[in-house]
Amino acid sequence: MIIYSDKFLLHDKPDHPENKQRLIAIIDALKKDSDLSHKIKNKIKEPKPAKEEHILAVHDKDYFNLIKSTKSMRSNTKNFFMLDQDTYLTDKTYECAVLAAGAVEQGVDLVYKDRKEPVFCLVRPPGHHAPYGGFCIFNNIAIAAMHALKKYEKVFILDIDVHHGNGTQNTFYQSNKVFYCSLHQYPFYPGTGSTEEVGTGPGKGYTLNIPLSAGTDDETYLRLFQSTLSTLKKFNPDVVLVSLGLDSHKDDTLGGLALTDQAYKKMTKDLLGLEKPLVFVLEGGYNLDVLGRVISKMMLLSL
Ligand SMILES: [Zn+2]
Repeated sequence: MIIYSDKFLLHDKPDHPENKQRLIAIIDALKKDSDLSHKIKNKIKEPKPAKEEHILAVHDKDYFNLIKSTKSMRSNTKNFFMLDQDTYLTDKTYECAVLAAGAVEQGVDLVYKDRKEPVFCLVRPPGHHAPYGGFCIFNNIAIAAMHALKKYEKVFILDIDVHHGNGTQNTFYQSNKVFYCSLHQYPFYPGTGSTEEVGTGPGKGYTLNIPLSAGTDDETYLRLFQSTLSTLKKFNPDVVLVSLGLDSHKDDTLGGLALTDQAYKKMTKDLLGLEKPLVFVLEGGYNLDVLGRVISKMMLLSL
């Protein structure tokens, strides 16, 4: 299944790398591929917004209210409220962000019902840095992981975005129910994600960071990816949520890793091979061709 809404295009700033063209490029690519468009004909679901109390399970009330307050601001293409120097908000952002969080929760509900078929949540704005900015508003995957804990005992979050998901890591840093594992370029934005960050209290040993130097290629990356799968198997989660960043690709405009399409295909096959409920959640990725092409390839393997 695919969860997507045209409403995700409402949050937009044309001169910013995280703009609506990213999702337009993906949807266009899916439609253009005749095998895929046939395959997914009845598989696109419209999401529902997340409930406020679900968002508050991850974000504090002040942060939530700040985001909500932007609903009533007067914005236009020249007038944006900036959460940090990289993260814009418009009067449509709140609606979009609540829907993105709801979409990922719905992804969890869908794989709970039908554990065999993975779900792709094609959402914007992304989430894994939230509430610390970095183009992100609400932490979609963290909110969905909290939601998943109502049905499941153990959740594994695998973050393959080129950036470290500091927001997600922090949310579950003290938890032994949600394992957070990230492969990312390091040192790089947002500065976190060293091997020494392993969790604390009951969560000690339930955070695994794999920092990678710029230029890391398929061979090295996939070898380390295999080691994360061993960790995953040992943890034996009930559900696997993937922070899917296409910015680890060699042609990405912001990232500095050197993965090819083949690496994404291999990771998809390996994840499917786990035979666990699986939800892919779109995070970063700023080369429009890469976004459309790689997601199409991943869906052809998965759906
Ligand atoms: Zn990223």
